[in-house]
Amino acid sequence: MPDYSCDALIIGSGQAGNPLATALAEAGRTVILVEEAQLGGSCVNYGCVPTKTLLASAERLHQVRTAGELGIRLGGAATVDMPAVIARKDALLATSRKNLAKNFDPKHENTTLLRGHAAFTGPHEILVQESKEHSSTIKAKQIFINTGTRPAVPNIPGLAESDYLTTTTLLDIQEVPEHLLILGGGYIGLEFGQMFRRFGSRITIIETGHQLLEREDDDVCECLQKALVDDGIELVFDAQTQRVSRNEAGELTLTLDTPKGGRRLHGSHLLVATGRHPNSDTLNLEAAGVKTDEKGYIQVNSKLQTAARHIYALGDVHGGPQFTHISYDDFRVVRDNLLHRGHRSAKQRPLPYCVFTDPQLGRIGLSEDQAKAQGIKYRVSKLPVRKIGRAQQTGEQTGFWKVLVGPDDRILGAAILGPEAGDIMTILQVAMTGRLRYQQLQNMVIAHPIWAEGLNVVWKELAE
Ligand SMILES: Cc1cc2nc3c(=O)[nH]c(=O)nc-3n(C[C@H](O)[C@H](O)[C@H](O)COP(=O)(O)OP(=O)(O)OC[C@H]3O[C@@H](n4cnc5c(N)ncnc54)[C@H](O)[C@@H]3O)c2cc1C
Repeated sequence: MPDYSCDALIIGSGQAGNPLATALAEAGRTVILVEEAQLGGSCVNYGCVPTKTLLASAERLHQVRTAGELGIRLGGAATVDMPAVIARKDALLATSRKNLAKNFDPKHENTTLLRGHAAFTGPHEILVQESKEHSSTIKAKQIFINTGTRPAVPNIPGLAESDYLTTTTLLDIQEVPEHLLILGGGYIGLEFGQMFRRFGSRITIIETGHQLLEREDDDVCECLQKALVDDGIELVFDAQTQRVSRNEAGELTLTLDTPKGGRRLHGSHLLVATGRHPNSDTLNLEAAGVKTDEKGYIQVNSKLQTAARHIYALGDVHGGPQFTHISYDDFRVVRDNLLHRGHRSAKQRPLPYCVFTDPQLGRIGLSEDQAKAQGIKYRVSKLPVRKIGRAQQTGEQTGFWKVLVGPDDRILGAAILGPEAGDIMTILQVAMTGRLRYQQLQNMVIAHPIWAEGLNVVWKELAE
C-alpha cells in the first residue's frame, strides 16, 4: 500500500508546477506537489527575481554616479553596501516564498505539499526521500515533471578545486569581487558582468565563440559589445579555457587557448556561466518509461506528454527556450488540454525575451540571420535610439531598433536595443499577434514624448 495516492503528482515547484497545482486542485483533483528545495524554483530563488533585484541596485548606483550629466551635484562618492543589497534581495525572496506557501494551506483538502527528493519506482509510483531516515511512497494517476535545470559546470582541469562561483552562489556574495572572471558570454554572464562592473569590480568575460549572445544578429552583438566595453568590461573571444588554478595568495589564473596563441588571465573570483543541465538524471526515469535526448532533456510531444502518455514534462527540463514565461505557458497548455478540453500546443508559439543589460535588448520573432537561413523574404529598417525625441531629454542615446517586415507589410520580427526595450518589443508582439500592417503603427497617434514614439518612424528605411 502506498503512503499517499492522488490524481495528480507534481514534481518540482517551478513556474509551471505551482499554478498547475492550484488549477488542478480547484478543478476538484487531489494534488501532491513534491519540492526538494525552496518553493518557487529557479525564477524566484536563483533566477529572474534575484538577478533583476540586484540589477536594480546596480542600475540605481550607475544613475547616481552619472547624475552629473543631468546637472545633479551629489555630496560624496556613491558606494555600494553589498550586505544591504543582498539583504534587500533576500527579503523580497522570502516574501515570494511565503506567498507561494499560502497555496499549500494544510486546510485545503485537495492539495498536499511534500518536502523531499522525488524519483520514480514505476510508471505510476514515486518515492519521496523526505529525510535520511524517512521516505514516502505515492501512487498517482497522472504525473507532471517540472524539475528545471542546474548550472552546468564544464570539465576543465583545476576548475573543481578553484572555489569557483555559480550563478546561484554569486547571488549571496557579501563583498564586491576585485576582479571577476566570467566564463560564458550568454545573457546571464552579461547581466552579472555589467551588474558587478557597476558595483565596482573589474570584469573579464571569456567566450568560446567569436561574439557574445551567439543567437543574435551581428549588428546587435556589436552594438551591445561596444556598450559593455565602454562600461570598462574586457571581452575575450574565441578562447578555450585549458586550466584553472588558484595560488596560495588566493589569486586565480585561467590558461586560455586563443587563435593568437596561449594567454593567461588573473582574477580574484571566477563565475561559471556556461549553461544549464536538466534535473532529469536523478528521477530514475527508466522505471517510468520516460525518454530523454542525449543531453538529458525529457522528450515531449506538442501537448507536453512524455513517451509515457500519463506523464508530462513542463518548463526547462524538456529543453527548448528556458524562460519563465515559456514554463508558465507550458502550464497553460496542460491546463487547457486537461481541464478545458482544449487543443493547445506548445509548438509554434511566440518567443519574446529580454536581456537586462544597459542598453536592454528586447527580441521577438525572426532575426535577420534566421530570416536569411529560412529563405524568408523580408525588408529591414533600423532606427538609432538617439533619433527618438525621448533620447534627447533623458540623455540615453545608445542602441538602435531593427524591424523586419514581410512582402505583405506585416511584421516578422524585431530587435530593440535601448531603454525600455522589453516593453517596446511587447508592443510589436501585440501588433504581430493582431497581424497589423506596419503602416498602422507608422500612422498611429502616439503620446508625446514617450519612447514608443519611435514606432511612428522606425519603418522609414522600408520606403527608401
Ligand atoms: C541566473 C538566471 C537568470 C534568469 N533570468 C531570467 C529572466 O530574466 N527571464 C526569464 O524568463 N527567465 C530567466 N531565467 C530562467 C528561468 O528562471 C527559468 O526558465 C524558469 O524559472 C523555469 O523554470 P522551471 O519551471 O522549468 O523550473 P524551476 O523553476 O527550475 O523549478 C524546478 C524545481 O524543481 C525542484 N526539483 C528538481 N528536482 C527535483 C526532484 N527530484 N524532487 C523534488 N523537487 C525537485 C527544484 O528544487 C526546483 O525548485 C533565469 C535563470 C537563471 C539561472
